Amino acid sequence: MSVLITTIRWGHSHWTVKYDDALTDSDSIGRTSYSENTLSLMPGMPIDRTLETFWHELTHMILGTGGLQDLPQIEQVCDIMSFGLATLFADNEHLSNIEGACLSAASEEE
Ligand SMILES: [Zn+2]
Repeated sequence: MSVLITTIRWGHSHWTVKYDDALTDSDSIGRTSYSENTLSLMPGMPIDRTLETFWHELTHMILGTGGLQDLPQIEQVCDIMSFGLATLFADNEHLSNIEGACLSAASEEE
């Protein structure tokens, strides 16, 4: 079984991303725990499905922490936002450091 445990720093909090065998016997392939700061993924999925689920749960983390976890269309919103963010970051590598690039450009102008 593959092992994935990593940490995401988001603002002042740290979130753990891990595989969870308990999801294998559930209706869900991913889960976001706001009390444990954990994103859990079902192990054994194809890598593209795993990544899709990771981005989906990441979107739950952002929206849920902002108090929108009970939004009536939360699953659809997470699907749309996760696909949008994942493809934007995949197709535009420089986006991951856009703040650094802007700060660098601003300091060169001074
Ligand atoms: Zn969801």
